Amino acid sequence: MRYYHTPTLFDGLGNVAFDMYIGVNNEGIITSLCSTTPVATNAITYLKGAIMPAMVNAHCHLELSYLQGKISKHNGINDFITELENLKTNHTKTIQHHAQIAQKTMCNNGIIAVGDISNTDATFAIKEQQQLYYHTFVELYGFSPSRAKTAYTLGLDLFNQLPKGKASLTPHAPYSVSKQLLQLINAHCKLNNAPLTIHTQESKAENEFFEFATGKTFNRIHNFGIDLTAHMATHQSAMQYIAPQLPATLRTQYVHNTFTTAHDVALAQTLNPNTYWCLCPNTNIYIENSLPNIPMLLHHNALITLGTDSLASNDQLCIVAEMKTLQRYYPQLTTALLVQWATHNGAKFLGIDMSHGNIAIGRKAQLVELQNFNHETQCLVEATPRVI
Ligand SMILES: [Zn+2]
Repeated sequence: MRYYHTPTLFDGLGNVAFDMYIGVNNEGIITSLCSTTPVATNAITYLKGAIMPAMVNAHCHLELSYLQGKISKHNGINDFITELENLKTNHTKTIQHHAQIAQKTMCNNGIIAVGDISNTDATFAIKEQQQLYYHTFVELYGFSPSRAKTAYTLGLDLFNQLPKGKASLTPHAPYSVSKQLLQLINAHCKLNNAPLTIHTQESKAENEFFEFATGKTFNRIHNFGIDLTAHMATHQSAMQYIAPQLPATLRTQYVHNTFTTAHDVALAQTLNPNTYWCLCPNTNIYIENSLPNIPMLLHHNALITLGTDSLASNDQLCIVAEMKTLQRYYPQLTTALLVQWATHNGAKFLGIDMSHGNIAIGRKAQLVELQNFNHETQCLVEATPRVI
């Protein structure tokens, strides 16, 4: 039996407690949480930092880790994708080498579970090591209806290599999947009761693609050689276009939402109460140099999760770094709330909230210390994660 004392404890469910002792038995299970000093004073470790649960990275692309520092910043998503496509490799050894390092970094940064996008099987062997819990979203593309069957079959091949209950087929973005492909993905997710995740409203150009059938996204897809003659202006945002086409009951996570409006959020949540909103602030700044309207999301009681996206668009895979960015731009966000987004909400989205994402008696002690946490202001500013 051992005890950890912390001046500030965040439980992952939005609560904060002060001057707390956490009792952990020899099996690593939390057996007590109290503010009175335990009798066994020689078994107490006094920590200077705050304690929070280990984190969930709700959106990552482990297989793009080899692109760290390669793509220019602040050029917008369309130039970003063009650069990314030019730099892509299918050299498995290179992908695996960098993914392995990235996984280690995530572990050291207090991440315990990942909602990870895969377009290939290059990282499957790394995920099998189970150093982290992974739910793999096999991501499918195909704007031309004629490509739907082929894209789906390729996706199924990948899906079948993954452990049951820890994988989904998922659409890439509203502008990169046909209605036919979406229907196949939806049916598969319903059959497997699997969650979905989709990149949404990452740029103004994405909305313009649907509203007016013009703009940078339209041009990029057109230049890619895809026939857009049947693609008409809908006068709807990307969210208004996509949300009604996704399943109404499955857990669904919209990722980025940098240009999502109150109307979009209200619509998506009305259509599906199991809607999650994943924020990847450091990536949004890297690519578009803008952030989602967080006060608006809070006003709608949005279920928010946090992700790092990939090392192609982020200097680090660290959820605490994402929390710090959010608190810097939105000082009204309390650390307790950000911790909830980083832990319990992500675990709920991945369907592992019974075992991950909060600190409570009877649960496995998956604890992270926030070193250099400012206990006076309760702000993250200089905080860095350390696994206990
Ligand atoms: Zn992404």
